[in-house]
Amino acid sequence: MRIFDPHIHMTSRTTDDYEAMHAAGVRALVEPAFWLGQPRTSVGSFLDYFDSLIGWEPFRAAQFGIRHHCTVALNPKEANDPRCAEVLQHLPRYLLKDGVVAVGEIGYDSMTPEEDEAFAAQLQLALTHDLPALVHTPHRDKAAGVERTLAVVKESGLAPERVVVDHLNEVTVRQVVDSGCWMGFSIYPDTKMDERRMVAVLREFGTERILVNSAADWGRSDPLKTRRTGDAMLAAGFTPDDVDTVLWRNPVAFYGQSGKLELDGSGTPGTDATFEGNSVLRGVRAEV
Ligand SMILES: [Zn+2]
Repeated sequence: MRIFDPHIHMTSRTTDDYEAMHAAGVRALVEPAFWLGQPRTSVGSFLDYFDSLIGWEPFRAAQFGIRHHCTVALNPKEANDPRCAEVLQHLPRYLLKDGVVAVGEIGYDSMTPEEDEAFAAQLQLALTHDLPALVHTPHRDKAAGVERTLAVVKESGLAPERVVVDHLNEVTVRQVVDSGCWMGFSIYPDTKMDERRMVAVLREFGTERILVNSAADWGRSDPLKTRRTGDAMLAAGFTPDDVDTVLWRNPVAFYGQSGKLELDGSGTPGTDATFEGNSVLRGVRAEV
């Protein structure tokens, strides 16, 4: 089973996770920019983070045979902090970089006027940079959040097939299915969506325009939820081709719209490479 995780925050994960993901079939992923777990106090904190998303983290992933791409944005939560707003002026130069395959995560957290402004401005950045957009939906007041999200996307002029509306469940998916946007689902260990509920959604709505991710952030999460969803699909009678559609071909089609996906050579772990003098290896290894 080949897997492309379209939304996973590897910055918060360990090398054990990378090893387990590769063993489970993960060969490519997209890491969206998000918060640090605590508030950023200056724009410099974003810039160092973005630099790590296009430099160090892809290097680290490559050591485990996984192709790493990212999305950059001012996330919805921090859009409310005036100390962070200036980062919007720095985004255009990051959106030009190799490996940056979308604008994201953008959207709503608490649906404030500040979030409105940042969301609309960043949808315009996606439009002018000819990139897809990854849109987060709020975990509270979900139905209202999704409704407003779709209205703002429509108003932006960005084509719906270039937008994924993420963190959906079996209720909110109904709002998105007719919009033409892609539908993203984050599978978690004990809250929100799980793999069994995901299989039920796939039974009802089919496999088209659906992306499944493990999110895997600072909270309790499981970077193998993509694989577990693939296994649950097979156990429920879906074919290996259906699984390949959902876990590989769909994310490739969605992020491929950026023209910047690099999938050649994925699957070959690196060995002694270094990134600015740093390796992911520790200590001296025995001669083989
Ligand atoms: Zn996320």
